Amino acid sequence: MIGGGNSAGQAAIHFARYAARVTLVVRGTSLKEPMSSYLITEINANEIIDVRFETRVVAAHGTGQLDQLTLRDGQSRTVQVPADALFALIGAQPHTEWLRGTVACDHHGFVLTGSDLSASDETASWPINRGPLLLETNIPGAFAAGDLRQGSIKRVASAVGEGAIAIHLVHQYLRLAGSAD
Ligand SMILES: Cc1cc2nc3c(=O)[nH]c(=O)nc-3n(C[C@H](O)[C@H](O)[C@H](O)COP(=O)(O)OP(=O)(O)OC[C@H]3O[C@@H](n4cnc5c(N)ncnc54)[C@H](O)[C@@H]3O)c2cc1C
Repeated sequence: MIGGGNSAGQAAIHFARYAARVTLVVRGTSLKEPMSSYLITEINANEIIDVRFETRVVAAHGTGQLDQLTLRDGQSRTVQVPADALFALIGAQPHTEWLRGTVACDHHGFVLTGSDLSASDETASWPINRGPLLLETNIPGAFAAGDLRQGSIKRVASAVGEGAIAIHLVHQYLRLAGSAD
């Protein structure tokens, strides 16, 4: 598993039920910063799981299928290790290419909403008198909720909560639009 975050930690614990050995390859010097402590405790207690800190995967080898990886450590030493499978859990990117040019996004593709819009260059193109509502995009009446929104907490409960808030904001938008007529 490449990665030191919660996704890599969960995956390592899952695969440790089936694999002879699972190795977490982590660029950083510890798991403390990016990973929840309950996962760190489980990983440390699991004899199937090794963690290699300050290490990167720099090459994959095999004919037809993976059989070895080259790892490079913090001192630029490389080592070739056997591997049957490789999973990269190194973050996610939003699939918002189709919104570009219409809905304002940051340079990673996360959709700008509410006060994040006001803090960006998009303020200039905001077409109406009031400011954007909490989850409102640069298009009045169009809202964004969940992982694709810039600054959102990447959790199921947050995404569901933002969805519920967005519905409330739609009602507020319709009320405001009605009173403007
Ligand atoms: C490996 C992993 C482990 C995680 N573990 C946890 C955890 O333990 N606890 C936790 O709270 N959170 C966890 N998360 C985060 C959680 O999954 C997300 O925060 C949550 O799913 C976000 O919900 P969402 O609706 O914003 O996005 P998503 O769940 O990603 O849903 C977006 C949906 O939109 C669809 N879609 C995309 N583009 C289009 C399009 N153009 N047209 C129509 N549909 C489209 C996608 O197919 C998808 O179904 C984990 C995430 C990962 C990747």
